[in-house]
Amino acid sequence: QAKGAGRNRLCFFDPATQAAMAETTALEADLRQAIDCQQLELFYQAQVDTSGRIVGAEALLRWNHPQRGWVSPARFIPLAEQTGLIAQLGEWVLQQACAQLGLWAREPQLADITLAVNLSAHQFRQKGFLGFMQQLLARSGAPTERLKLELTESALVDNVEQVIALMLALRSLGLRFSLDDFGTGYSSLAYLKRLPLDQLKIDQSFVHDLVKEPNALAIAHAVIQLGDSLGLDVIAEGVETEAQRDALVQQGCHAFQGYLYARPLPLADFEALVRRGTEGSQPPLS
Ligand code: C2E
Ligand code: MG
Ligand code: MG
Ligand code: MG
Repeated sequence: QAKGAGRNRLCFFDPATQAAMAETTALEADLRQAIDCQQLELFYQAQVDTSGRIVGAEALLRWNHPQRGWVSPARFIPLAEQTGLIAQLGEWVLQQACAQLGLWAREPQLADITLAVNLSAHQFRQKGFLGFMQQLLARSGAPTERLKLELTESALVDNVEQVIALMLALRSLGLRFSLDDFGTGYSSLAYLKRLPLDQLKIDQSFVHDLVKEPNALAIAHAVIQLGDSLGLDVIAEGVETEAQRDALVQQGCHAFQGYLYARPLPLADFEALVRRGTEGSQPPLS
């Protein structure tokens, strides 16, 4: 396209951009279908305490596409957010999670597991979210205090007063909140102090660099201190090595999630892991 071709020119994209756009459109259509055709599944990744006991899980969405195979949520969640599909997708995830908590409640070995569910900013800001949660919890009979919503700073930055009111209302239902990917966003400390949170989740980028980068260690340390002084739990995500875990323990971190303990697992595998873990001596969790 020549320069100065005028204001009314059509917009042309280079072939690579065009291909990427077509690919996105195709994926979007597939995702729409996947929601209806049960190609989506929740995986569960263990969260453990300092003794290695499983105290919770994070529900992570998985999409097994009939042709493409596994599509990463890092790819389809942003797409769902752009297209508005996240509303439907997010409701489905919460329904699954609550149904699961209801079932776990009946089994002593699983009854104490707290289930963390990721919530996108769109979902959280959607009108009617509070009503949806109220109905869902009432209908599913899930033990409300076992459900934890993971929010990122992006969900919390606008309309502070409104966000706080919504969080308080959800909390009065028994729900808890974790601030995911903490340290990668922009929330000020003054603001953080006002949010009715229960947990901070140290972002995996800091955990990754913990052992070799003094700055990452300093940040992890600061987050743990901050959690302590605000009365919040702190969990580290992306813990892959003993060295990382030891460094975190030394800084006073009490909860961990990462490949060192377990990958995100299909439901049956996760349940088997918990049942094994609660039988007497602790086997290795990987
Ligand atoms: P997240 O919530 O920060 O989830 C943690 C991600 O780190 C997951 O990636 C998990 O599989 C991965 N992970 C866990 N342990 C380790 C480790 O030791 N090392 C490394 N390198 N990675 C680890 P995943 O499952 O691909 O999900 C990516 C993101 O997609 C999530 O990040 C979350 O933001 C989003 N997501 C996943 N499921 C849902 C969902 O149901 N709803 C919404 N809104 N977002 C979701
Ligand atoms: Mg998360
Ligand atoms: Mg995270
Ligand atoms: Mg993340």
